Amino acid sequence: MKILISLALITFSLTSIAQKSPHSHQHGKGVLEMGIEGRTLSGTLEMPLEALLGFEHAPKTGKERSAQSKLETRLGLIDAWFEINPEAQCTPKSPQTKLDRDAQAKHSDLLYTFSYSCSNPGALKEIRLLFFKEYPSIKEVKVEVASPKGQRLIMASPKSPIVRF
Ligand SMILES: [Zn+2]
Repeated sequence: MKILISLALITFSLTSIAQKSPHSHQHGKGVLEMGIEGRTLSGTLEMPLEALLGFEHAPKTGKERSAQSKLETRLGLIDAWFEINPEAQCTPKSPQTKLDRDAQAKHSDLLYTFSYSCSNPGALKEIRLLFFKEYPSIKEVKVEVASPKGQRLIMASPKSPIVRF
């Protein structure tokens, strides 16, 4: 009986990775994909803009424009988003950002691509997601990690913001 239950769980987690579509847009929920290969840790964060800005249409008012430019400034500072355990000696490369607004759809997303070069990748233990504090509308982030140890799926939240490798 126990064996049957754990097989069911494995099937479920594989299915949920496979079903991830580019438009799995749910307010308050993001997806973070990370991969570790050699000395490089790279990742993409996909987040509904609504959780970051309070709106997701193209900015119209002065207030909305300033909210968006504040977000864009913040996106240039990767240290405001992630914190890696210092023993791994990871240095960020410049992040790339795309605000994905579909004129047809009502919804829009942030796509944030980043990478680090780590001098001591064997010491990579954890990455802390710092953005929950700045953006309380973010309730949950589905984290998919691919590393030499294998592939894992982790649910991060404001109460559980640390992803262990
Ligand atoms: Zn939306």
